Amino acid sequence: MSLDVPSAGCQDAPILKERGQREVFCGLTGIIWLHRKMQDAFFLVVGSRTCAHLLQSAAGVMIFAEPRFGTAIMEEKDLAGLADAHEELDREVARLLARRPDIKQLFLVGSCPSEVIKLDLARAAERLSETYAPNVRVLNYSGSGIETTFTQGEDACLASMVPDLAETSAESLMIVGALPDVVEDQFRRLFTAMGLDDVRFLPAKEAALAPSVGRNTRFLLAQPFLGDTAAALERRGAQHLAAPFPFGADGTTGWLRRGAEAMGVASADFDAATRIGHERAVQAVAKVAETLRGKSLFFFPDSQLEIPLARFLATECGMVPLEVGSPYIHKGIVGADLALIPGAPLLSEGQDVDLQLERCRTSRPDLSVCGLGLANPLEAEGLATKWAIELVFTPIHGYEQAADLAGLFARPLRRRNMIEAIHPARAS
Ligand code: SF4
Repeated sequence: MSLDVPSAGCQDAPILKERGQREVFCGLTGIIWLHRKMQDAFFLVVGSRTCAHLLQSAAGVMIFAEPRFGTAIMEEKDLAGLADAHEELDREVARLLARRPDIKQLFLVGSCPSEVIKLDLARAAERLSETYAPNVRVLNYSGSGIETTFTQGEDACLASMVPDLAETSAESLMIVGALPDVVEDQFRRLFTAMGLDDVRFLPAKEAALAPSVGRNTRFLLAQPFLGDTAAALERRGAQHLAAPFPFGADGTTGWLRRGAEAMGVASADFDAATRIGHERAVQAVAKVAETLRGKSLFFFPDSQLEIPLARFLATECGMVPLEVGSPYIHKGIVGADLALIPGAPLLSEGQDVDLQLERCRTSRPDLSVCGLGLANPLEAEGLATKWAIELVFTPIHGYEQAADLAGLFARPLRRRNMIEAIHPARAS
């Protein structure tokens, strides 16, 4: 006789908390995708030459377009307190805004050096806002590696925008997270097909299109790393709709359904709007999943996308997560995905990189998802890897991208199969 108790997935599984050395990019990285999304914004990093190099190499050199990010480089005299950094910053901003009347939102972005000398960018943003209002809104946030991992830069940026959003008492649905335009348009069409034709997005493409917020605003997070933004919206009275994240066919349907139900969409209208997209995504993922099914998976903590992706790869692609590491595990945000992860993978929060590498070497997963710094050493040891950073530079949300998302994980496995076929000696 056996007892059939419905499983709560990993929702109540113990979490290994590690607080050792970690290997992640800093929050400045978010500027790369944020500046593409917010077309009248400029990101002015107050930092060092290292920060400028990071941005240049991550973004590539733009030859034809005027860049919408830059670095006010702090020199030794600034760091030694020999110059008034506020005066210099004011001069740089004045030069920039005189040359670039297209800028409507200016973000002063803190870095490690500006944090170390305790340069008060909040005060600078307030002062500059008064000078340039109403044409330019000046905000500030920190992208410093001391304070943020690479996706937290977006969280800090969006959270800084929330207090400035206009107040509304209207019933409304807001989607929170910087989505590529193509994905935003797809979601907009799906909501419109359900009868929700005024769904708003944060961040908007332009400052003038920013959503309003109030007690009757419900919001769906499009990214799991937006904890501070969610808290800031809740302080404005908005209600978070907890849902699985829109990765894959089922994740997308679960996420859309949560929004639809909260806005009173009839279930027949929801089904009519989503059925075809869902079925197409299931079929497209199934083809790619042939490479993934039964393969084991190990997530190093990096993007905070790890738990929703583990859910997608396990439930829709048949992979077997061995360890799911994430920089932070916020159950109020990723709880719906956690509850769906089957089996008993080790859940880990934070990092102690040497200990985690040992666990990875011991379990020898078929695929390890990790940052750039760990990928090469693991590949050299014969382990296939996927760079986590690609997951934020590639459109991966929604029905249309479901197979591409699965494909991102299938590619390194196919590559390793080919290497092993050509050089069997490197297989071990
Ligand atoms: S913010 Fe800090 S970690 Fe990031 S590039 Fe600048 S110095 Fe390096």
